[in-house]
Amino acid sequence: MTNLQPARGTHDLIGEEQRRFHYVVETARRVVATYGFDEWMTPIFEDTRVFARTLGETSDVVTKEMYSFNDRGGESITLRPEGTAGVCRALVSNGLTQSLPQKVFYAGPMFRYERPQKGRYRQFHQLGMELIGPAEPLADAEVIACGWDILKTLNVANDTVLELNTLGDRESRQAYRDALLVYFTEHQGALSQDSLARLDRNPMRILDSKDEADRHIVAGAPTIGPYLTEAASTFYAKLQDLLTMFGVPFRENPRIVRGLDYYGHTAFEFVTARLGAQGTVMAGGRYDGLVAEMGGPPTPAVGWAAGIERLAMLLDAAPASPAPVAVVPIGEAAEAAAIPILQALRAGGIRAEMAYRGNLKRRLERANRTGARAAIILGNDDIASGVAQVKNLLTGTQEAVPINQIADRLR
Ligand code: ATP
Ligand code: MG
Repeated sequence: MTNLQPARGTHDLIGEEQRRFHYVVETARRVVATYGFDEWMTPIFEDTRVFARTLGETSDVVTKEMYSFNDRGGESITLRPEGTAGVCRALVSNGLTQSLPQKVFYAGPMFRYERPQKGRYRQFHQLGMELIGPAEPLADAEVIACGWDILKTLNVANDTVLELNTLGDRESRQAYRDALLVYFTEHQGALSQDSLARLDRNPMRILDSKDEADRHIVAGAPTIGPYLTEAASTFYAKLQDLLTMFGVPFRENPRIVRGLDYYGHTAFEFVTARLGAQGTVMAGGRYDGLVAEMGGPPTPAVGWAAGIERLAMLLDAAPASPAPVAVVPIGEAAEAAAIPILQALRAGGIRAEMAYRGNLKRRLERANRTGARAAIILGNDDIASGVAQVKNLLTGTQEAVPINQIADRLR
């Protein structure tokens, strides 16, 4: 076999890309921990039913994008296209529905059969949080504030706007759906094939269409405001007050709906202008019906997911890996003496490397090439007297340091 490439829509994370990726996840982990969220790791594949019913029969993900297959035992398996359904399944499977609230963070690969383009892959990665239990808008405000904190800590918040909407309660949505049905039926001659298919089943999803012609029609569609019940309006107003108290700026956008069908009340996206058509970096909302769909008791919940690749692309610079220290033995006997020194440096938290071969000159050349900040040069005479030559590769100065003090000197 020659010239094997990664499968279409997948990518290798190596070097700078991997460092960006890692930095995004580690930053999010640190921030969510300050909000009291714990990380869960659920399986990458699940019984297809975990997704098929719960994500909604009309969502793009279920109708077009799922990687599903029958395994050797004949079970229908799906590679997870998103994280929320698996977390809710796990909540129920692990008997945690009576131990609320659960504050969950996750990060990992997701799979969708999509047309690959910049910022859109078939294996991509999300991190996300789910706050399961509270029905109060304070919960919505808190997860949004936490997302905003992550964007601020990553230093990408300046380019990002929170777009906020409400999908109301069931009663509001029913009335709104009827109004949309009337409107879109009047314009059905001009709607795309995909949107026509959504017309009967879930006309709200047409609002999310990326088709150019659809977007013109969507621009004139009714908004949900007039159809909100009093309770739904109160919830939404309270959320907006709370976001102000948390210091999260937002802009109302009545066109925000979620790609998946299980959402109500809060829907939001953090959007940037810097990634072209793939501008949504973080998206979420309230999904009070999902845990019950999964076979648990009715349980309110709110959360969001962020595309790690998209966040990584927004970072100004990839964080650098720490400069190493090169251990440079001169000759075979010195190499034996170098190993415990190498290991002591590592145990002290210092990035230390030793080449696998080469004379002094070659090893020093290599140390410079790898950006080492110092070389620990070990000759036989020095070893006999318990010292090493520590050469600062940035300034070129060199001094003899007792072997047991090297780590302290380098730190
Ligand atoms: P879109 O409208 O862009 O298709 P979506 O509604 O399908 O987005 P969600 O299911 O809400 O997206 O996923 C949350 C986030 O995950 C998105 O905002 C985006 O950052 C990221 N994401 C979704 N699909 C992909 C993909 N195929 N490749 C890379 N990132 C993705
Ligand atoms: Mg999508």
